[in-house]
Amino acid sequence: MSYLPPAPDALDLNLRWNNRFAILGEAFFESLSPTPLPAPYWVGTSASAARDAGWDEAWLQHPDVLHALSGNCLLLGSQPLASVYSGHQFGQWAGQLGDGRAILLGEVNGLEVQLKGAGLTPFSRMGDGRAVLRSSIREFLASEAMHGLGVPTSRALCVTGSDAPVRRETLETAAVVTRLAPSFIRFGHFEHFCHHGMPGELKTLANFVIDHHYPECRQDPRWNANPYVALLAAVTARTAEMVAHWQAVGFCHGVMNTDNMSILGLTIDYGPFQFMDAYDPGHICNHSDTSGRYAFYKQPNVAYWNLFCLGQAMMPLIEEQEHAIAALETFKDIYPRAFARRMAAKLGFDQAREAHKPLIEDILKLLAADKVDFTIFWRRLSHWVADPAAAGDSVRDLFLNRPAIDTWLLSYSELLAHTPPGLAADLMLKTNPKYVLRNHLGEQAIQAAKAKDFSVVADLLKVLERPYDEHPAHDAWAGFPPDWAAQISISCSS
Ligand code: AMP
Ligand code: MG
Repeated sequence: MSYLPPAPDALDLNLRWNNRFAILGEAFFESLSPTPLPAPYWVGTSASAARDAGWDEAWLQHPDVLHALSGNCLLLGSQPLASVYSGHQFGQWAGQLGDGRAILLGEVNGLEVQLKGAGLTPFSRMGDGRAVLRSSIREFLASEAMHGLGVPTSRALCVTGSDAPVRRETLETAAVVTRLAPSFIRFGHFEHFCHHGMPGELKTLANFVIDHHYPECRQDPRWNANPYVALLAAVTARTAEMVAHWQAVGFCHGVMNTDNMSILGLTIDYGPFQFMDAYDPGHICNHSDTSGRYAFYKQPNVAYWNLFCLGQAMMPLIEEQEHAIAALETFKDIYPRAFARRMAAKLGFDQAREAHKPLIEDILKLLAADKVDFTIFWRRLSHWVADPAAAGDSVRDLFLNRPAIDTWLLSYSELLAHTPPGLAADLMLKTNPKYVLRNHLGEQAIQAAKAKDFSVVADLLKVLERPYDEHPAHDAWAGFPPDWAAQISISCSS
């Protein structure tokens, strides 16, 4: 381990901090400092996140920045705080929660900067305020992978680690993820102020979200020109689009509690998530989800249920129940249309049509019946459309039921005949990724990192940032999961 100079008292990176959340006042957060992380080291850094956030990539090699992003010194201009929120967890009202281990440093270039795993806060409840290396690497890679896929998500600037022990089921080591998002406000923030009888703060929060993130809601002539109804409708639309995107790439969130639902429709709080290997609509990716509440096929409905919790929390602002219901019910139109559009694109059609519906339903049934690998199927299909002769039997070989897939391929070819093949294949190769962050890939990066080899994290990041590119040197990462992948158990514990 190379020598690390001691942390400075404070570090001035000449960043222009604009800490808008901190203006909300003391009902919204507690000011505090991160808990220092002993002898930190870099585990992973995202130059692309740094560039997009207007940070100098070179900082992600600097020892002072390593200290600052591990919570060991103040970044001048930041105003560290932990926010309070509440939420419904696994369908039950859970009361007050809050940032139990994520500390918001403030906002730079329109992005909030959070240190996740940076120590105890007043909202840590029974937890230790820490995150372990394993879950931090998963969050880091998943954030950047989802961004690479084009799915709305929080970003991750870096992960720093330490040999400091953290107790979970076994003894593990601590890590901190620096994550970025225009806002980390959750449905649970609204629920907090509604269900704790704080209508003034609820209104302040809603106005804050509208002013900074949904200004168009003030001018929206629909919804009786009520900006709060317009906000509920806008969040409904973004959430529906996000979940449709999840379904189209086979992403399963794992803990869709209302405290993990972003008011901006971003994927946040990566815990026991999974990119599916074999297609199984009933797949439950979270070992702690014993009732299967968050099974893959249930996620669109859960999103809708969660939006109702948000609508309920906004009732003091909306007043008329039928207005809230009308805004929420747009989900029933937006979600299926978004899903149909994404699935049509996976099939190479630039627009969703009624005629695609049976095709989509049938292929999902065949994939489920034969437990076909979701990502590999769509990628092989894309190559088959691009060059059927070269692709040969690569698609039908994935299925046990050959007559069924042959029939399907025939119907598909007939519909595709109206589209120029080059165009369809182009669209498909940009829509159906070659690489996703499968559990076993994350696991390889984690195991290497535990042995202080961080090269797998870096290499995986490079591939996942551009998941539609071929990266021939890493073909193995696009292959079928090994048998041991099924044994990886991912729970809420992180
Ligand atoms: P999650 O299921 O990770 O979204 O966490 C639910 C709540 O528990 C959130 O308010 C977290 O901040 C909090 N929490 C989770 N893990 C810890 C931990 N290790 N220490 C303190 N709080 C935690
Ligand atoms: Mg959470």
